[in-house]
Amino acid sequence: MRRAIIGGTGVYGVEGDSRQETVVTEYGAVEVDILTYKGQEIVFLARHGKGHSVPPHLINYRANMMALKQLEVTHVYATCAVGSCNKEYAPGDIVVMRDFMDFTKVRPITFYEGQDGVKHTDMSEPYCHDMVERFYKESIKHNVKIKGNAVYVCTEGPRFETAAEIDFYHRNKGDVVGMTNVPEVVLAKELGLCYSAIGIITNYCTGFMSEEEMDHEGIMEAMADNKERITGCVLDIFSDASLNQESCRCKHAVMNL
Ligand SMILES: [Zn+2]
Repeated sequence: MRRAIIGGTGVYGVEGDSRQETVVTEYGAVEVDILTYKGQEIVFLARHGKGHSVPPHLINYRANMMALKQLEVTHVYATCAVGSCNKEYAPGDIVVMRDFMDFTKVRPITFYEGQDGVKHTDMSEPYCHDMVERFYKESIKHNVKIKGNAVYVCTEGPRFETAAEIDFYHRNKGDVVGMTNVPEVVLAKELGLCYSAIGIITNYCTGFMSEEEMDHEGIMEAMADNKERITGCVLDIFSDASLNQESCRCKHAVMNL
C-alpha cells in the first residue's frame, strides 16, 4: 500500500531521497518518482510531465491514474494552480476542493467503456471527506492557512476563459477555475482511490477583478512558501498509521447497472 502526490503547475518534485520508475499501463507509460519518507514509499507524479511539457487537454489522465493504481496507491493528494472567480479567494490563497463542475469537451473521461457492462460512478462526494478533514487538522501544525472549501470549475483549455464564461461560472457558484481536475478526480473514484485536491490561487479569472493593485512579487513568494508547507503537511498525513479507507465510501463509488 502506498500514497501519492500529484503535483500540478509549479510543483514538480519533493525534496528527499527518491528513485525514478517507469510504470507501463494499457493507456501508456508514466514516469514517477518514488520517495522514501519516514520508512514509507510515497509516489510523486508530475501531472504535466517533468518541465511542464504536456498541455492540460492532452494529459494522459487515464495512464497517470492507472499507474498509481498499479503501484498500489490508495490515497492521493493533488495540487492544482487555479484562477479565482470568488472575491473571497485572492491570489496566494489556498483552498480545498469540495465539489466540481465539468466543462471539458474532448478528453477521455472514464475507464468504463462498456467492456464489462455499464458502470456509473457516484459523485455525491467526489473528494474524500476523510482526507479533507485530515488536511484541515494537519494544516494548523504546518501553518498552512486554508481560506475555505471551493467548487472547482474545469474548463477544456488550453485557452483561458472569456469574461462572459467567468461571469457564468461565478453566478453559478463556481469558486475557482482550472483545466486539469476533471477527469483526474473522476478516474481516481473509478479506481476506488481516496483523492483530495488542494488549490493554490495564482490569479483572478478573466475580467473578474482588477489586478492593478496586486503585489505580484508578494504573491509569488507566498506561493513558493505555500507549496513547501502543503507538501510537508501531506507527507505527515501520509505517515499517520491511522490513514485508511474505512471511514469513507471512496472504495465503493462504482455502481453496476
Ligand atoms: Zn476516501
